[in-house]
Amino acid sequence: MGTLESLHFDNGFARLPEAYYSRVCPTPVPDPYLVCYSPEALALLDLDPREMARPELVETLAGNRLLPGMEALAALYAGHQFGHYVPQLGDGRAILLGEVKNSAGEGWEVQLKGAGRTPYSRGGDGRAVLRSSIREFLCSEAMHALGIPTTRALAIVGSDHPVYREDEETAALVTRLAPSFVRFGSFEVFYYRNQVEPIRHLADYVIARYYPDLQNLGDPYPEFLRQVALRTAGLMAQWQAVGFSHGVMNTDNMSILGLTLDYGPFGFLDAFDPGFVCNHSDTGGRYAFDQQPDVAAWNLTRLAQALVPLMSVETASQAIGEYPQAFAGAYVERMTAKFGLADGEEAVPLIMDALQLLAQNRVDYTIFMRHLCAFDSATGAPNAPLRDLFLDRAAFDAWAARYGAALRRQGSDDAARGAAMRRVNPKYILRNHLAEIAIRRATDQRDYSEIERLHRLLAHPYDEQPEFEAYAAEPPDWARTIEVSCSS
Ligand code: AMP
Ligand code: MG
Repeated sequence: MGTLESLHFDNGFARLPEAYYSRVCPTPVPDPYLVCYSPEALALLDLDPREMARPELVETLAGNRLLPGMEALAALYAGHQFGHYVPQLGDGRAILLGEVKNSAGEGWEVQLKGAGRTPYSRGGDGRAVLRSSIREFLCSEAMHALGIPTTRALAIVGSDHPVYREDEETAALVTRLAPSFVRFGSFEVFYYRNQVEPIRHLADYVIARYYPDLQNLGDPYPEFLRQVALRTAGLMAQWQAVGFSHGVMNTDNMSILGLTLDYGPFGFLDAFDPGFVCNHSDTGGRYAFDQQPDVAAWNLTRLAQALVPLMSVETASQAIGEYPQAFAGAYVERMTAKFGLADGEEAVPLIMDALQLLAQNRVDYTIFMRHLCAFDSATGAPNAPLRDLFLDRAAFDAWAARYGAALRRQGSDDAARGAAMRRVNPKYILRNHLAEIAIRRATDQRDYSEIERLHRLLAHPYDEQPEFEAYAAEPPDWARTIEVSCSS
C-alpha cells in the first residue's frame, strides 16, 4: 500500500487532442473537511488508509491542490435529454484530475464532482451539495457490493461554502473513480457537428484501452458497438433484477463501458411498482422503472446513429439488434436464479405472475425475495412470513402451490436452494429513507457516523447482519414525504 507520493499518473484521456476536453483546474473551497471515505475504493489506487489522515489528501480531494502528475480537465459531451438533443453539455461541475495506474496494472480515472465551474457549466455553479454527494457515495459503493457495474466513490469532502438550491445548503465534492467516464454523448457531440475524424479517434481510443480484443479485427467498430449493446443489456438486467431505478437515463449519463453512471434522483423499489418514477421532475414517467430496458435500447440507437460515419446504417442497426434478446436472456437468467428455479420455460410464467401479485398487493420487493429464500417446498406448509406480506392471501396461496410444485418437480433441496438464493437476493439495499437519515444527521448535526454505518452495512448486502435487522425493514411512514428532485 502506497502514499500520495507513490501514486503513478498515466492520464490517457489528457493525451487525446484538446477537441475532447478543456483544461481547467478545480476552484478551491474554504476549509474542507473529510466526511467519509471508502477503504475499498482507496485500495484501487494502492493508497494506504493512513493517507486519509493527511491534510494534503483532503486538500487534493477538495480541489484545493493538484498532486504532481495530475492534469486537470473537463470533458466535452452532448446528449439526448428526455428525448431532445442538447448539442453541448460536458462536465459542468466534474473535473478529471488524472488517471492512476495501480500495481495490478489497472487504470483508474480520478474525478472530482462538484469541483467548480468549467467551460461547460452553462448557468450552473459547478457545485454539488452534501445531500446529493452522500447519495452518490453510498449508492456507488452499494451497487459495487451488489455486483453491479458502476463508477466508484472514493470519498466525500465537505466545505461550509454555501450552495443555493431550493434552499441554502453546503458544498461537497465526491471523488469518483472509473476506468473511463466516456459516455454515449461523447460520440454524439461530434456526429451532430459533422466531424467524422474525432468520432473515429475516440472510438479507437476506447477500443484500444477498454475493448483491446477488438483491435485485431480488420473493422472493429461494428463489434465495438455490439459489445457496448451487450454490456448495456447486462446492466439493465441487473438494474431490473435488483429493483434499481436510475431516474435520468439521458444519453449523456450512459457509460460506454456499461457502468451505472451519474447518480442523481435514483431510487430502489420498496413496494414493487413497475411504474415507479423516482425523479419527481420526470412528470411524464419517461424514465419509470419498467421503461428502463426500452430506454436503454433507444439510447443505443442514438449511439449507433453517432457511429454511422464509421459503418453503414444496416451494420449499425445489426450491431445493436441483439440487445432485446440479450436483455431478455440476462434478465430471465437472473430472475430464475433469484427465484431458485431451474427450468427457464416453467420459470418465466411463475416469475411474471409473482411480480404481478407483488404489484397488486404492493409488497416490498426486496423483503419478498429474501423471504422466498426460506420457502418450504416439501410440506405444502403455509410459509406464514411470506404469506403475511399479501393482502390477497388466496392469490398468494394459489401461486405458492404452483411454485412449491415446480420446486418439487426440480427436486429442490430447500437448504441448498435457500443458500444459493441468498447469494443473489440482497437483504440490504440503499433504501431512500436510510440515505435520508444519514443525510439529515450529516447536514443538521455534522454527524457522519450514519454514513459510515450504512457504507459498512451495504458492503455486505447478501449477508445476515443481525445487529442491523432494522435496516432491512420496510420504509417507515414518514418516508412517504421524501421527495427526490433533480437538484443536486
Ligand atoms: P446531470 O443531469 O446531473 O447528469 O447533468 C446534466 C448536465 O448539467 C451536465 O453537463 C452537468 O455537468 C451539468 N450540471 C449539473 N449540475 C450542474 C451545476 N451545479 N453546475 C454546472 N453544471 C451542472
Ligand atoms: Mg450527467
